Amino acid sequence: MEKDRTRDKGIQVIKEFYCSICTDTYPIDRWVSCGCDHRFCADCMTGHLTTKINESQLEGVACPGYRCSRPAPHHLVKKLDPDNTIYEGYVTLSLKTWIRDAPDVHNVGSTKLN
Ligand SMILES: [Zn+2]
Ligand SMILES: [Zn+2]
Repeated sequence: MEKDRTRDKGIQVIKEFYCSICTDTYPIDRWVSCGCDHRFCADCMTGHLTTKINESQLEGVACPGYRCSRPAPHHLVKKLDPDNTIYEGYVTLSLKTWIRDAPDVHNVGSTKLN
C-alpha cells in the first residue's frame, strides 16, 4: 500500500508545474513560456505582458523569470490574447520601438536628400 501511494505521488508531480508568480501549481498542459526554461501559468503571463504593453515598455514584454529577458514571441502574445486587445498594442509598440531604435533608416533618408 505504502509503495503504491509513493508511486502515485511521483506521477502527480510530473503532471503539474509550479508558477513562481502566483506560487500555485497547475496541470502541466497549462504552462506557457517565452521559449526559455521559465514556465508560468497563462494568467500570470498575460497579466505581466498586458502591464508592460500598457506601459509601452517593449523591453518588459519578455519572460518574467528572474534575470531573464527573453522577449515574448509574437505567437505567444497572440495565443494568450484571442481577442487581439493586447496583441494589437504589442504590434504597434514593436513598430514604434523599431523606428525609434533604427537611426540608420533616418540617416539613409537624409543622405539621399543631401
Ligand atoms: Zn501563475
Ligand atoms: Zn525566462
